[in-house]
Amino acid sequence: MELPTCASAPFDHAKADVILRSADGVEFRVFTLFLSLASPFFETLFGLPQAPDGASDQEMKDGLAVIAMSEDSKTLDTFLRFCYPSTLAEDPSLDNLTEILSVLAAARKYSLDLIERKVCQALANPKVLETDPLRSFAIARNARLKHETVTAARYNLRQPLIPVLFAEINLITASDLLALVTYHKKCIISVQGLMKDLKWMTDHYGNRNGCNWLSSGAYNDYSGEYCNCGQGTDNRFFPWGSNPVAWWTTYMQEVYELLQDSPSGNTVKTAADRTIQKVRGANCSVCSGRVKENMTEFSDLLALKIDEAIAPIELEMDF
Ligand SMILES: [Zn+2]
Repeated sequence: MELPTCASAPFDHAKADVILRSADGVEFRVFTLFLSLASPFFETLFGLPQAPDGASDQEMKDGLAVIAMSEDSKTLDTFLRFCYPSTLAEDPSLDNLTEILSVLAAARKYSLDLIERKVCQALANPKVLETDPLRSFAIARNARLKHETVTAARYNLRQPLIPVLFAEINLITASDLLALVTYHKKCIISVQGLMKDLKWMTDHYGNRNGCNWLSSGAYNDYSGEYCNCGQGTDNRFFPWGSNPVAWWTTYMQEVYELLQDSPSGNTVKTAADRTIQKVRGANCSVCSGRVKENMTEFSDLLALKIDEAIAPIELEMDF
């Protein structure tokens, strides 16, 4: 066996009253009081009467009891930081998803309810969800965390319907995956309605003048120039019965395709950002100055309608 190494601060305190040794041989010198306050498991463990000196096979080091833990040092470090008061150890970040699972297992084993709540918060962290919705889904589902599972499924709508292989796929069952894909497909169908009937749009703007940025060949009073962006000819997207400006038609065509796979408000907002860059690059004296404001309003509206369309759809899964 390798020689034990000492954990880093604050788990190397000279006045600590117990040593926890991780599975990989790292010794954490900790205060029983903090652990007892955080966990009924530790409270019971440390409350057990001590055998008289010499009568116990309890391993001792520097006069302190050494308790062998089955967790590795990384997991132990993370959950001990949760147990300690925040003035001594800041809550660790759980951006790393693989860590979440082992910390959650330890939290449950040692009845660390507070940590379980914090792990749930970490799984609901938008940063984690935006980068790894599918992995978050698998972890949350595996841990039977309903709210977190549903939220992750929702974020996963930004991704294609058929997932690519991911590290945690074996944490879930084929039924779980089928439920996720079915949910995704239902959202696609629901959102398609918005692209086929633009009533939500005409209702919002009221009339053609309510969105004159959309008209092709518009005139700029200041520069005295006309928009030269051209007319869109795809009559699926004629909200007022006449040809809109071409780049908006292109945007709608693109979004129509994307929503067949990724039915999320995020999809239409990112596509709008690309359109804004493109239109600005084209340097139309009428459009480039106002495209950002107008397309932001428009894509926010569409994103809102998408959210409304998918809100009633349920992820059918028992918890
Ligand atoms: Zn233009």
